[in-house]
Amino acid sequence: MAKRELRRSLKSEIDNLFASPETAENEFQQATKRQKRDDSESSSTPKSSGSSQPFDPNRPRVTLHLNRLGNSFRIDCETLAHFIHYTLFGNSLMKPRWTAIANHRNIPQTLVIRINVQEDFFMTTNLKFLNDFFERRWIELDSEISDRSLFWNSMMNVRLTLQEQVRRKSEKMQKTFDILGKHDKSNFILTTAQLADRGFPFPGEEGIVPTKRRYKKLSPSSPLFSVDCEMCETTTANRALTRISIVDEEQNTILDTLVKPDGDITDYVTRYSGITEKMMEGVTTTLADVQKAVQNLLPPDAILVGHSLEFDLRAMRMTHPFCIDVGHTLNYTNSASGGRNSLKNLSEFFLGVQIQTKFGHCSYEDAWAAMRLAQLKIEKGLMFGNTSFGWKYTRDANGGVVEEALQTEVVSTVPCSGCTQPTVVGCTVLNCRCRFVNGPSKCVHCVKLGESIEGDFDWQDTLDLDLDKTTSPIESYLKKDKMTSLMCAFDNSFLDKLPTFSKKIRSKQSSSFPSYDSFINSVASEMLNDSGIFLEIEKERVEPLEDSADETGEVFDNSEGLNTMLEKLVGATTRNSLVIIIVSSPSKNILFNRIK
Ligand SMILES: [Zn+2]
Ligand SMILES: [Zn+2]
Repeated sequence: MAKRELRRSLKSEIDNLFASPETAENEFQQATKRQKRDDSESSSTPKSSGSSQPFDPNRPRVTLHLNRLGNSFRIDCETLAHFIHYTLFGNSLMKPRWTAIANHRNIPQTLVIRINVQEDFFMTTNLKFLNDFFERRWIELDSEISDRSLFWNSMMNVRLTLQEQVRRKSEKMQKTFDILGKHDKSNFILTTAQLADRGFPFPGEEGIVPTKRRYKKLSPSSPLFSVDCEMCETTTANRALTRISIVDEEQNTILDTLVKPDGDITDYVTRYSGITEKMMEGVTTTLADVQKAVQNLLPPDAILVGHSLEFDLRAMRMTHPFCIDVGHTLNYTNSASGGRNSLKNLSEFFLGVQIQTKFGHCSYEDAWAAMRLAQLKIEKGLMFGNTSFGWKYTRDANGGVVEEALQTEVVSTVPCSGCTQPTVVGCTVLNCRCRFVNGPSKCVHCVKLGESIEGDFDWQDTLDLDLDKTTSPIESYLKKDKMTSLMCAFDNSFLDKLPTFSKKIRSKQSSSFPSYDSFINSVASEMLNDSGIFLEIEKERVEPLEDSADETGEVFDNSEGLNTMLEKLVGATTRNSLVIIIVSSPSKNILFNRIK
């Protein structure tokens, strides 16, 4: 059979498979089984025996991605507590976005030691144990860590984000979504739990407005709208909206405007945003104008499409329930690491087109590419283009199609029918696609609400989130989890509310021991069965070792004493434990962390 015929017959077979959502689900499960089988086969083949230390696939590994916290952001009490709580309670909490923790279930203990030191500590003390054990790697923390009361209260109260609340209710929520139209498009939208996991904004979050007052259940005719935002750094935000493009299924522009951010722009990030200082001259359109235009333009059953759409929605300060993220549904490399393919790479691989070239960056083009990718995915079915569903990488995923030549005739941009202002952004990219498509007839200021269609539900009501309750005592989490217990060996007079101490949550106070040494010894000897150990050490109270004073007896140096203490404590934890040490002075706070 000729190659082309073979491909055609295969395609019709696949199309039949995806004829209904039920068969698609079935196919997805089979593909998952196949993938698992393939994985187990490949893992039985001997691995290259180059490294001297045998690789233990079950060993926990912690990687911190501080850049995800945003530029110049330093870890504060709440952020640090979230990380520690996640290592203790795992999946019942949302994973901190700035950490990657492999095999977190295999972390048997989390030892948190806060050492309070004097101002000159970092200048004068060289702690051998810390430097050796943590290989001199440390992170400077936010100055609020110096506040002991805030620190310990954060550790003892587990924060519930809106996303976390959504996750807890996701099962119930999913039922609400299941009664929405059973059409194949709805199979590609992110579930409520996935939206929460990926940090999408939710209604009720501070400063976030919904795209609609009421939404309509999805139907086969629910339209796709692809959105891409460009962001600049300003005095008030790391990602402030400066341009937004929305593209419809016919690849026409329905909204394209520059936006004047609140603060002053400190970095145009032109390489990524395509925004220049000159372009922004005289721009007066605000974020609120854009939000109103989006609310007017989108029908109540609109499906938003994008790549890493949560960042676009965060820049728009908006929330939307029906989202397709091509960075989530398509992945042609091994997605075990959870990484996403870039929009540029997805476009080259699946569409055979180049975007974000040396000629510059245009948000229309990014929105266009995401739309084409989403349409391709919907056409080809659930399994298509995603290796984690068992889809196999082939060189010509785009069917060997080469980029179509662009039309030569430029569609002239019609000025706004309301105010005669331009309706699209003057593009600076050479031969950009945005010049060959129809623009909207009205500008962002003149677009009016179309036919008002009553929606079926209010998303915020459906989510039914408790917006005031932001934390829950650590006790409630300990009670739920049979295995966890916590030792609190810090001065608990700092706590706003004392927990009820029990077998699950024990208190150990240094004041009830004859010496500081005996306090630390007691902690070390009793921590074996605790999943969490919260300990505070006052460096001033650590006794110097007997031989550390010189002959005149004038030098009081307890660094060796502290070294010995830390060594003893870390030594008392079991293998694979997470060791977190915070050294806090009134003006500087640093964090060491490592899996033992
Ligand atoms: Zn206008
Ligand atoms: Zn363009």
